[in-house]
Amino acid sequence: MEALRQLCCEQHAHFEHDVKLSDYTTFRIGGKAPALITCPTPQSLEGVLRAVLREKSDFIVLGEGSNVLVSDQGLDTLVVRAFGERPVIERSKNVLTAYAGTRMDDVVKFAMGSSLEGLGFASGIPGTFGGAIVGNAGAFGKQISDCLLEVEVMDRQGCKKRIPGHDLNFSYRESALKHSQDIVISAAVQLKDGDLSKLRSEREEILALRHSKHPDYRKLPCAGSFFKNIVYPDGTRKASGWFLDQVGCKEISVGGAAVFEGHANIIINRGQATARDVYELSQVMKQKVFEKFQIRLEPEVRMLGVFN
Ligand SMILES: Cc1cc2nc3c(=O)[nH]c(=O)nc-3n(C[C@H](O)[C@H](O)[C@H](O)COP(=O)(O)OP(=O)(O)OC[C@H]3O[C@@H](n4cnc5c(N)ncnc54)[C@H](O)[C@@H]3O)c2cc1C
Repeated sequence: MEALRQLCCEQHAHFEHDVKLSDYTTFRIGGKAPALITCPTPQSLEGVLRAVLREKSDFIVLGEGSNVLVSDQGLDTLVVRAFGERPVIERSKNVLTAYAGTRMDDVVKFAMGSSLEGLGFASGIPGTFGGAIVGNAGAFGKQISDCLLEVEVMDRQGCKKRIPGHDLNFSYRESALKHSQDIVISAAVQLKDGDLSKLRSEREEILALRHSKHPDYRKLPCAGSFFKNIVYPDGTRKASGWFLDQVGCKEISVGGAAVFEGHANIIINRGQATARDVYELSQVMKQKVFEKFQIRLEPEVRMLGVFN
């Protein structure tokens, strides 16, 4: 551990020992991890990954923790956090390349400021660019894979690869990256020339809409939509929130976890919720929808640690 701490200093990464993961998730829930390393740049992420892989230490990667539920027992592995407060973004013509640990919304703002169109839909989506790519984040019928050119990843052998977006099997909230062990270092998006004032008003409209529908996770901790929407065989989708609303989910709670009154697919932490409370509440919600509609909801939020 001491060697890793030393290496983190050299790589300008931040090492913490015996860390409460609730401080690193938007749910504000989660037990401890033995150590957490925050990597603010692609160089620091690469350096840390190489060292961790050399030592053969088991680890998981986190971005801003806005799409995860960490168990109350925490994790027994090291956490490598790809996240930096300062955006790392480069522009070459209509292509933007950004560090995976840059906030998604900072990439959106950079694109808008450069009068480039194609990312406005992602205005206000919490989390990092890397997290958005892995989960194919989206809103208003668009998703990040629509404009993704390529990703640069490191595999668990320490080899770096560039993978074109069209080879990543993207679909609704899905990607090959979700099922591989690769770590996204950076990615490039291909955008179109746009008009700054139109892009500004699109962003303002989207932020206002999000503000009216979603809780502010800084005041009401949550991880956004808990379940994926329903995708029918013809590709059409129906919001899981609709089904959850029909079965009265807006009124239910377990311990400190409750369904957000404004959106039946969002679970909030009312202050003292445990991961167990959230998990049990999600099971009740799932069961109610199954009993009435014979539809099995699938979680969008990724569960880390032991829940059974
Ligand atoms: C209020 C609120 C509203 C939301 N609205 C939306 C929305 O409209 N649309 C939407 O799609 N999502 C939404 N979300 C969910 C969340 O913001 C997105 O899923 C986001 O993209 C997750 O990014 P993150 O950095 O927080 O990922 P994390 O939660 O940290 O990680 C998610 C998964 O990605 C993996 N991962 C993260 N970074 C990397 C990397 N560099 N390399 C490899 N794996 C990585 C992690 O291992 C984990 O399995 C919302 C969340 C909140 C709290």
